[in-house]
Amino acid sequence: MIAEQKLNGLQTDPQIKNVFSLEGKLALITGGGSGIGFDIARCMIMAGAKVIITGRREHALKESIELLGKSAQYVVNDVTELSSLEDLVEYIESHIGPIDILVNNAGINMKKPALEVSDEDFQRIVHTNLNAVFALTRSCARRMIQRQSGCILMISSMAAYYGIDRVVAYAASKSGVEGMVKVLASEFSKFNVRVNAIAPGFIETAMMQTAMSSDPDRMNKALNRTPMGKFGKPDDIGWAAVFLASEAARYITGASLPVDGGNSVGF
Ligand code: NDP
Repeated sequence: MIAEQKLNGLQTDPQIKNVFSLEGKLALITGGGSGIGFDIARCMIMAGAKVIITGRREHALKESIELLGKSAQYVVNDVTELSSLEDLVEYIESHIGPIDILVNNAGINMKKPALEVSDEDFQRIVHTNLNAVFALTRSCARRMIQRQSGCILMISSMAAYYGIDRVVAYAASKSGVEGMVKVLASEFSKFNVRVNAIAPGFIETAMMQTAMSSDPDRMNKALNRTPMGKFGKPDDIGWAAVFLASEAARYITGASLPVDGGNSVGF
């Protein structure tokens, strides 16, 4: 009797052999030609998904799909051209298939003391990291809502968690993304569309290299407040993205998951 009750409580379809699998899913990953985006693509493919990566540099995208294999395709796209994003989604859905997973990964950073940041600087960062994320999310979500199925991931940052000096525009953009996740999760949940963020700690990519290479004090500061005592690798973010996009995370929405070696809680 107790065993029967336990089984009745199970939500998982017995047909699903691996709740972490992304078999049969199509993921659109912006900025997938390098860094974290490339490894999100790589991990999602290893979990069984097909991926489309985008970016501005065609050579980086070409090189990436050669490494990723036949489960990957690319489309050259600049997310800051907001009017191109609806066409991008329409093109993918009509030529390749419905987008099950959107990963808003493309992003830029700029390190300057706040008083030296011009309005143009500020707008450039916010336009890429926030305005474009909203516009692309809207285009994808409209279709996901119609299909009553979808998963949207944002890439946030420690800069949205605590005060990192000299990244005022970046922090504002990522804090905006964190707010967007909560609102969209509350609006889209009834349509079976989940929205979550991953907040990476300090991850070894070109972006981190630029921010840290000429600034050993900053690098040591970041490392010293990371309890695990090391920087992250891009696939640390990739596997978290696989988890959040999978059936295993079906009751998780509106969350921001730090993947940071403890950096956000370190002393
Ligand atoms: P990289 O600079 O290594 O990669 C950024 C990617 O975004 C590139 O592939 C780039 O491609 C793409 N991109 C930038 N601008 C545009 C645009 N206008 N249109 C389309 N694609 C664009 O950075 P990371 O891999 O480190 O960063 C990825 C994400 O992770 C970003 O959102 C970043 O803010 C976030 N993050 C990174 C952390 C880290 O420690 N590395 C920490 C916290 C967050 P292309 O140049 O070809 O357009």
